[in-house]
Amino acid sequence: MRKPIIAGNWKMNKNIKEALEFVKEVGTRADRDDVEAVICAPFLQLKDLKEATKGTKIKVGAQNMHYETSGAFTGEVSAEMLQEIAMDYVIIGHSERREYFGETNETVNKKVLKALQVGINPILCCGETLEQREAGVTKDHVKTQILAGLKDVTKEDLAKVVVAYEPIWAIGTGKTATAEQANDVISYIREVIASVYGDLANEVRIQYGGSVKPANVAEIMGQSDIDGALVGGASLKADDYVALVNFK
Ligand code: PEP
Repeated sequence: MRKPIIAGNWKMNKNIKEALEFVKEVGTRADRDDVEAVICAPFLQLKDLKEATKGTKIKVGAQNMHYETSGAFTGEVSAEMLQEIAMDYVIIGHSERREYFGETNETVNKKVLKALQVGINPILCCGETLEQREAGVTKDHVKTQILAGLKDVTKEDLAKVVVAYEPIWAIGTGKTATAEQANDVISYIREVIASVYGDLANEVRIQYGGSVKPANVAEIMGQSDIDGALVGGASLKADDYVALVNFK
């Protein structure tokens, strides 16, 4: 049985004060035993968030990291640095990082391997552009991203990886993929993982991301292969975040 995972991606939003207010407002209202709740915040907010969420079931994650341990990488943060503040998750290869910060399938793979090495669960993102969907190459594209992203991940580590399928045309646009469209690609992603890992693919949690909100979360979560949601905009308001985690 795969435990659903609802993760908020705050992107470059909220200062420390706002982050702490959010946690206070949420309180223990997002504490479910049958759903994992995560907040992925900007680096500067993480240590305080980790402290503030003690006594709740909310887990905390970063939105990026570097694959090297230390060195001349100005402006970067290593996996070990995130491990020092006990991060539970790290988003890897979000489409915004691929588009604006030059992340490639190769760097994404290095980051996934490094996160696993230090004991942080990676949320590996994939997804197609509108042009790719219209050209009918969605599945080919996602397959390439997933096979490259998981390269050299051991069978023992596979279930620690969460995959997020996020069609780029649905991120922040208000356009959600239909629940069926999302489920179709997500079940294909599971087949791709199974082609390498066999039945272990059934243990991997695969989220959908792209304009998920309280009004559509239940329909999305009702699909057979969808195990969670990665949520941008709607995760910024405490009441909406609580509603997302408490989907029925
Ligand atoms: C995201 O950035 O991962 C995302 C899915 O954003 P939104 O929910 O705002 O579409």
